[in-house]
Amino acid sequence: MNIIDRRLFVPDEYKDAAYYDTPLPIGYGQTISAPHMVGIMCEYLCLQEGDSVLEIGTGSGYSAAVMSIIVGKSGNVYTVEIVPELYKSALERLSQLGLKNVHVILGDGKIGLEDYAPYDKISVTCYAKKIPPVLLQQLRDGGILVIPVGNEFVQTLKRVKKDGKHLVEEDLLNVRFVPMV
Ligand code: SAH
Repeated sequence: MNIIDRRLFVPDEYKDAAYYDTPLPIGYGQTISAPHMVGIMCEYLCLQEGDSVLEIGTGSGYSAAVMSIIVGKSGNVYTVEIVPELYKSALERLSQLGLKNVHVILGDGKIGLEDYAPYDKISVTCYAKKIPPVLLQQLRDGGILVIPVGNEFVQTLKRVKKDGKHLVEEDLLNVRFVPMV
């Protein structure tokens, strides 16, 4: 997080607030997550060098950039965004930064991203009413999914570990995210 400058990921009118530990608007009704939330999610994902990560909800591209530093050159971050304008600006921003291991994809993350599955880790940055089963299918054995689940008022950040045929689910903390559409 010291390497990735959050200022580059927020709109001009919020540059002065870029280092506050709070979400900020990025247009189209969406927000860039608070830095502590990005850190918490990386920690609960147990992100490691070499991991292949799927992110649903690119937004500004900030969390994808932070994760790309952790997984390093031997890892990859595939990040899916549904709003074309956000996809385009995140793509430009991330390629300008020269982060070659981040791949931005325009699409609906509800169906995951079959092309590069299975993933070691899956990070979802918009809340779902239920965990989309396809995301669990695209997780490798031993892999970890972190996802906010709930409704517009109450959401729980959940962690699911895939252990053979078993899924070990933990409730982590209460959170507030934008909805998965
Ligand atoms: N990780 C982002 C924060 C993203 S906010 C950052 O660091 O800036 C959540 C994002 O999820 C929004 O950009 C929203 O457009 C996107 N989103 C919502 N539903 C989606 C879906 N079904 N598929 C892909 N992205 C989706």
